[in-house]
Amino acid sequence: MSDSRISGLYRLSIAERIDELQRLGWLSSSDAELLRQGRHTLLPATADRMVENVAGVLGLPFAVAPNFIVNGHDCIVPMAIEEPSVVAAISRAASMARSTGGFTSNCAESLLIGQVHVCDIDAVHAALARLEAANSELLTLCNSVHPRLTARGGGVREIESHHLELPDGSDAIAVHLLVDTRDAMGANLVNTICEAVAPELGQLCGGNVALRILSNLADRSLVTARVRYELGELQRGDFVAEVVRDRIVLASDIASADPYRAATHNKGIMNGIDALAIATGNDWRAIEAGAHAYAASTGTYRPLATWSTDGNGDLLGEIVIPLKVGVVGGNLDANGSAALGLRISGVAAATELAELMAAVGLAQNFAALRALATSGIQEGHMKLHARSVAASAGVPDELFDDVVAELVTGGDVKAWRAAEIVAEKQVRTVQDRPDGSASGKVILLGEHAVVYGKHALALPIADAVTADIVEDDPEPIISIPEWAVKQKIATTDHTGITAVVTLIRKELGIADSHYSVHLHSRLPRAMGLGSSAAFAVAIARAFDAKLDLGLDEATINSVAFECEKLAHGTPSGIDNTVATYGEAMLFRNDGALELQRLATAEPPPIVIACSSQSGLTKDQVANVRTRRDQCPAHYDALFNEIDALSQAGAEALISGDYAELGLLMNICHGLLNAIGVSTAELENMVSLARAAGAAGAKVTGAGGGGSIVALCPGSVAEVSDVFESAGFKTISLVGEREYEIG
Ligand code: NAD
Repeated sequence: MSDSRISGLYRLSIAERIDELQRLGWLSSSDAELLRQGRHTLLPATADRMVENVAGVLGLPFAVAPNFIVNGHDCIVPMAIEEPSVVAAISRAASMARSTGGFTSNCAESLLIGQVHVCDIDAVHAALARLEAANSELLTLCNSVHPRLTARGGGVREIESHHLELPDGSDAIAVHLLVDTRDAMGANLVNTICEAVAPELGQLCGGNVALRILSNLADRSLVTARVRYELGELQRGDFVAEVVRDRIVLASDIASADPYRAATHNKGIMNGIDALAIATGNDWRAIEAGAHAYAASTGTYRPLATWSTDGNGDLLGEIVIPLKVGVVGGNLDANGSAALGLRISGVAAATELAELMAAVGLAQNFAALRALATSGIQEGHMKLHARSVAASAGVPDELFDDVVAELVTGGDVKAWRAAEIVAEKQVRTVQDRPDGSASGKVILLGEHAVVYGKHALALPIADAVTADIVEDDPEPIISIPEWAVKQKIATTDHTGITAVVTLIRKELGIADSHYSVHLHSRLPRAMGLGSSAAFAVAIARAFDAKLDLGLDEATINSVAFECEKLAHGTPSGIDNTVATYGEAMLFRNDGALELQRLATAEPPPIVIACSSQSGLTKDQVANVRTRRDQCPAHYDALFNEIDALSQAGAEALISGDYAELGLLMNICHGLLNAIGVSTAELENMVSLARAAGAAGAKVTGAGGGGSIVALCPGSVAEVSDVFESAGFKTISLVGEREYEIG
């Protein structure tokens, strides 16, 4: 197997991570493909066969923790967990342990205990003696129950009898069957054996059988894992290594003395163990029950892992934990995700999985104590969380650390805030922009659905509009020569572009009204290309430059959003956001704004063509809403499908997979047609584009007229020519300036 050290994995996109894991040999090509296509997840139909009353399936992040060496072998750990920072913490702890050879872990025996409880016994000591005498016949009887298990080398190894005194003073006997269940966890196997032999045991004891089931206190399946951290590895920030080490040992001692602390100490351990258990389809409730029962088995609840210092001053950690897990059986065959998790972990036997789990628990405990012993858990937690937020928001490398630091100090660790900080920091981009310029937008996927809180994927049309403010004009006017607009700015006008100017002035607190606004646009009117939002952004920017208002991008965006409400009623916010930031984005606003900036290596090969009919967004959105209200279930299903297309489209765009993106656009066009926003002319234009070689073509924007967008790898010129010859105006994505890459 390869080296499990994979640096910078967290910085990659999901698609890149899958590629990297495949390249390094940690994922087979078929598993990589499953992940790429999202086909590794549990299907509802399969779930329906697993448990009762299934209404769907629940998602959880599925991650991998690199850097592990366990028993001399490199491995990476699959983890299914929703809690931020656990995966990163474990990966770091595993990496720090590499200098001493990683973790040693040993599961010396793996027996599951089945219990048969016999009550109402008259002479308990005589019953115990009879059990003892019949031990070898009982073993034979037990092993006849499951011949396949014995054929595999498993079976009942020992039988023990325990005398119990029940609260009412009566006697009972717990007969323990210690079963080697081989590679299965063994709950069902053991329960079957218990139920089969219980009548015989009841008879032998001269009592009544009460219970026949396994015990989850699997203390005959104990795993011991150990690790040594070199003193030199332990320094953290301003904390010298000796202090970190001694504080970790102190934290361990406190957990030994205080059950309240031990509970949290052990919870951290289970963060790692449960995540691996879930990712490999194991029964984590059984593991939890066993771990905590074992922690309390001395009569005091104790830490499962402890830390000490060795003669060289290095830090030694040891965990002892019952782990009865399986790599076959249960629902592992049905649940493809679990099977994938097992393949990634590389374990071949149940004991190997248990050994890996113990190492993971110990690594997590080290990471938590190290953080607690130094700057506290919150700082690291927030920082790691901020890193993952920044990575998911597509923050460029050169700004990454600064953005993470600002996210942490600001306290708003959210993707939208990361995007805002980037926008604020991209001084070059902002300064290069003419004072009052803004981008238009073309929606690649997701229009209309975006109004209902779904994702949409949009690209900027660079330098689509510009605005100039002329001061001290006695008769202030607004002009857009390309649209043949020239009119007085009347503050009483509540419609159109003059109302937008009035609103912007109000929002920006500009009382003086002696300003003319001169606009230029390379976007035609009402073509669904975001001209109104671009005007609002450009005007706000022009006022900002003219009056030195010091507006940040977030303020400009929110002012433009107010203008969009004026123009469109219930806008999603995508137009103003793309107009402001001028970058490719995956966008969603379902109450909270979510922006994911998308890094593309080059402007995608896009042709936009305008139809002969204008399409008013406000009317189209209202019409769709009316139809949706008549038929909500079907419309919502279509919106959900569009949502999935937008998200898949973002991945395809980032990876430059234009064949896939084109396919998604074609599907989306069909759905837009289904919700009634296409027209005969738009259908014709889509066909023209596809016939001329476009990989995908669809209505863009609100429809009902307006434009179409075509993705034309290798055929931009051909497709543009076809449209121009047929009399349709085309618009290019790039203006005179470069397309901004996110
Ligand atoms: P299981 O019932 O699927 O039995 C394992 C099967 O795998 C057997 O049919 C066995 O013949 C077969 N097998 C194939 N190759 C094997 C190999 N190499 N080693 C061993 N068996 C092999 O699964 P199980 O492990 O007996 O039970 C696990 C399930 O029981 C889990 O889903 C768990 O949630 C559930 N469960 C748990 C509890 C509890 O923990 N208290 C109680 C009841 C059920």
